[in-house]
Parts: sequence; C-alpha cells; structure tokens
Amino acid sequence: RRAGGQLRVRRFRQRMLDEAQERVRLFSELRRGIEQGELRLFAQPIVDRDRRVIGEEGLIRWISPQRGLVPPDAFIPLAEQTGLIIEIGDWVLEEACRVLTSWKDDPARRELTFSINLSERQLRADDFAERVHRILAGHDISPGLLKFELTESVLHTDLDRTIRMLGLLRAEGVFASLDDFGTGYSSLSYLRRLPVQQLKIDRSFVSSVVDDAHTAAITQTIVQLGRTFGLQVVAEGVETEEQFQALCELGVDAFQGYLFARPRPVSETLAGS
Ligand code: C2E
Ligand code: CA
Ligand code: CA
Ligand code: CA
Repeated sequence: RRAGGQLRVRRFRQRMLDEAQERVRLFSELRRGIEQGELRLFAQPIVDRDRRVIGEEGLIRWISPQRGLVPPDAFIPLAEQTGLIIEIGDWVLEEACRVLTSWKDDPARRELTFSINLSERQLRADDFAERVHRILAGHDISPGLLKFELTESVLHTDLDRTIRMLGLLRAEGVFASLDDFGTGYSSLSYLRRLPVQQLKIDRSFVSSVVDDAHTAAITQTIVQLGRTFGLQVVAEGVETEEQFQALCELGVDAFQGYLFARPRPVSETLAGS
C-alpha cells in the first residue's frame, strides 16, 4: 500500500512538472509568435431579425508552426496571466481599425460595427481610453463603429474603476457590450451602474432555448432586462432555424452563430474582397 501511495505522489509531482513546463513552452512560443506575426484575426457576422449583417465580431487565432491553428481558449488565459494580453489586445485593436478603415468608402459596409473582446487586464491600464482615442483618431474612424465586449469577470475587481473606464470610453463614443451574459454572478445589481449598451446572451442558453422552458424563461427575462435599460440584446451561438425562431419570438434584437456564418479570416471581410 505504501509503495502504491508513493507511486501516486511521484506521478502527481511528475504531472505538475509537465504542466509547468508546457506553460513555459507555450509562453515562449506565444511571445515569439506575436513577434513573428503568427496571430490572425477572424471575424463572424452579427445579423438583425431580417438576417441582414449589421456588424462583425473579431475572434483571434494563432497559427503556430509547432501547434497548427490554436483557438483562443488555449492561449488567452495564459496571455492574461502573463501580461502578453496587452500586446495582443493592441494588435487586435489595430486590426479592427484596419477593417473599419477598409469599410469606410464602401456604401454596403460603412455602417457596420466591429466588436472586439477585451480582457480585464487591458481595461486596467490607466491610459487605455486615451490609447483607444489616439488610434481611432489616427485612422479617422467614427468611434461609434467600435464595440468592446467584456465578460462579467471584469466586474469582480474594482467595479468603480471599471465603471470609470467604461465611462471614459463612452465619452469617446465607443460602445460596450456585456458578453456571455447570464453566466456570471450578480448580473442584476451592477447593470444599473454600468455604462454598457448591449447584452450578449451566452451560447449555453441559446443551445437549450428550444427544448427547455426554464431557459426560455431566463432568456425572456434577459430581453426584458435589456428593454428596461435600453440595451440591445444579442444572442450568440445560434446554430439552428428553430433557435433563431424561438429567439426572435422572445424579442432578441440581433444574432450570431454558425446558422448565419462561421468565423473566417478578417481579410475576407475587407472591402473589395
Ligand atoms: P466569445 O467572445 O464568447 O466568442 C464566441 C465563441 O463562440 C467563438 O469561439 C466563436 O467561434 C464561437 N461560435 C460562434 N458561433 C458559434 C456557433 O454557432 N456554435 C458554436 N458551438 N460556437 C460558435 P472562439 O473564436 O474559439 O473564441 C473563444 C473565446 O476566446 C471568445 O469567446 C473570447 O472570450 C475569447 N477571445 C477571442 N478573441 C479574443 C481577443 O481578441 N481578445 C480576448 N481578450 N479574448 C478573445
Ligand atoms: Ca465575445
Ligand atoms: Ca460571448
Ligand atoms: Ca460565450
């Protein structure tokens, strides 16, 4: 028995070591990858109730020579922990501006919004609103076309500061969206104080809205909440006609998901492409 216990301890230690080594490897590969230009921005359309495209959401990918196409969930958390997210975020913002610039003279696209995901760490930087202002002004882009998506995690620390930063961005004319809405805690209490203009219903609700009456009721409550606060309500991860119909009936304003289009390289959305 004792020998078995020691073996387990040894295996456990080995696993911890392996994981730590893998994190170090991932970090150095990612840092290098950023320098080498291995990041790609993909985009996925957001449509209205008539299925007309009203905007796009930027979704990052990493094309690593060692690992192939790496989804964001596999490296964003590490980037957040190590601070690399600041550099990545700046690059995403630049890419977003490049897209919005290419849309400017295209009558079919010049009113489309571009949404990007923001990590809490980015919002914490004192000069964030200023940097956003500078880059938008530099590209001569109307701030109302840029949207930041934030998850409820940004509300867990220093709410007052978050509210102040969002207020500064709002003063610039930039919009903010509360992403994955309904999956975090305390959604209701802070909503009143938060300068956001959009709620994004999480995919976990969308996937069961057709079959589960409770989910439908929650979704309806979110829509009503949005109405009360004058916010646009978007549903993400819409995969079937049935989901789309159900969400329409519940009063959702806008939709995103494989039913309409999958994320594809942002280069395919540029004007003239
Ligand atoms: P998110 O913001 O909730 O993004 C939605 C995710 O759902 C995306 O995964 C998208 O590809 C996927 N999706 C879209 N439609 C459907 C559908 O109909 N069905 C299903 N099953 N999935 C769908 P992705 O691209 O892997 O992104 C994962 C997460 O990574 C994002 O979740 C976001 O939190 C984060 N992320 C992506 N890009 C960035 C970025 O530039 N910066 C930061 N900080 N985070 C990012
Ligand atoms: Ca998002
Ligand atoms: Ca989301
Ligand atoms: Ca989600």
